[in-house]
Amino acid sequence: MDSFDHYIGGEWTAPAGGEYFPSVNPATAKPWYEAARGTRADVDRAVAAARAAFEAPSWRDLSQTARGRLLRRLADKIGEHAEELARTETLDNGKLLREMRSQLASIPEYFHYYAGYADKISGDVIPAASRDILNYTMREPVGVVGAITPWNSPLLLTAAKLAPALAAGNTVVVKPSEHTSASLLKLAPLFDAAGFPPGVVNVVTGFGAEAGAPLVEHPDVAKVTFTGSTATGARIAAACGSRFVPVTLELGGKSPNIVFADADLRAAAMGIIAGVFAAAGQTCIAGSRVFLQRAVYDEVLELVCERAGTIRIGDPLEPETELGPVAFAGQLDKIEEYVRIGVAEGGRLLAGGRRPETGRDGFFYSPTVFVDTDNAMRICQEEIFGPVVTVMPFDTEEEVVRLANATSYGLAAGVWTRDLARAHRMASALEAGTVWVNTYRAMAPMSPRSGFKASGLGVEHGTEVLREYTRVKSVWINTGEEEARDPFVLRS
Ligand code: NAD
Repeated sequence: MDSFDHYIGGEWTAPAGGEYFPSVNPATAKPWYEAARGTRADVDRAVAAARAAFEAPSWRDLSQTARGRLLRRLADKIGEHAEELARTETLDNGKLLREMRSQLASIPEYFHYYAGYADKISGDVIPAASRDILNYTMREPVGVVGAITPWNSPLLLTAAKLAPALAAGNTVVVKPSEHTSASLLKLAPLFDAAGFPPGVVNVVTGFGAEAGAPLVEHPDVAKVTFTGSTATGARIAAACGSRFVPVTLELGGKSPNIVFADADLRAAAMGIIAGVFAAAGQTCIAGSRVFLQRAVYDEVLELVCERAGTIRIGDPLEPETELGPVAFAGQLDKIEEYVRIGVAEGGRLLAGGRRPETGRDGFFYSPTVFVDTDNAMRICQEEIFGPVVTVMPFDTEEEVVRLANATSYGLAAGVWTRDLARAHRMASALEAGTVWVNTYRAMAPMSPRSGFKASGLGVEHGTEVLREYTRVKSVWINTGEEEARDPFVLRS
């Protein structure tokens, strides 16, 4: 079984505590490698390496154009190792190899996109009241960024943090999820191979309380970026707040997927399938609450159940598989518990609600459809993070807006309609950081992603994220001969 150390300062570094922990392949339920069990001492070492790299002339004095060049080279290196990275993540979290190959085609684009911004990050000259005053702003990197990531799409979600953080001139320590360390450990050496100075990107593996919390609390970490559950996000935000460290949070969701009677119903049904059964429903943006306008309720429900019943469940490495396992045993237990809760609350199962017969030992769960649900039920309010959807009828646009927004989350929403005016009205009325009309699960590095309400804080992707990885300084220079003015009055 392979064994991985931390990646610190460009070198494989054994854990200070000497311990390793196993990672399980969810398609076989067997451990397939072990990773270093990080502790505060390892985090201290990684942050020190990142701090030294931040201050080293090899990074600090590198021109912004050269920074962009490194990011482009890295993108090419990722392209060269795409198949290995894709397979690693499939073995680690059970995502379809097909989907991982497609993610690996887009991950280099994140680095290309932000490479283009590296030499366009600049301050402004501010109009001043006097010709003697030159007032300008500088946009500086913040310093060492602590990045904490989840298990459902480790490479993609980490790339969305690394690319803008590095383009802006920061250095980074990443703590990946304890369930999926491998793909990031395979990515880390590519930064050095691309020419980044050692210590610019560091990886410390381990558990949240042991390695994640010390990273968030470290006095030399100047910015925290987190993707994961809302409960952990709240804890991290509180820790950052207590020491005034800016934090970006991408958290959970319970996204509505709404079908109006005028929609292309077959496309809508496939959008529902894509929204909640792709990646076995383990996506933050899962369209896990479906609302169907009453006139088409039966027809769309039938299309969804029909397709759900034919979804091919199996080995995520096989090209014909459509639904792989969920990522680890605890996640399977959580899904089963929610299905029990749903039934106890009065929900009726139209499909799934059980482990399928696969003849395999992995953590598989059947696509599951609940009807007769009420939006106030726990299965309609709490994130299940599995292939489980609740389907509810509605009559009017006003009613469905109210139901869709009646959740603590606000990550994403889908709307299916041929009425353009309604599409605009819905996009404006829905409380969600992303609204898709007649599509679902579309994303690109260019397009900002944010979570409203309990789904997050701050923005990722697009140009706006660059503000999250820089701080602004206002510089005032008096070019006049002397400070001949009333010293007791504010100057402008
Ligand atoms: P999680 O919150 O359990 O863990 C996320 C990361 O935080 C892991 O690396 C974990 O080790 C670490 N962690 C745990 N406790 C910590 C602590 N006290 N201090 C510091 N770090 C700690 O989430 P998960 O189960 O890995 O991921 C699934 C969740 O992520 C879902 O809720 C999903 O919606 C969310 N998610 C959100 C987005 C988004 O863009 N909004 C994307 C993907 C996943």
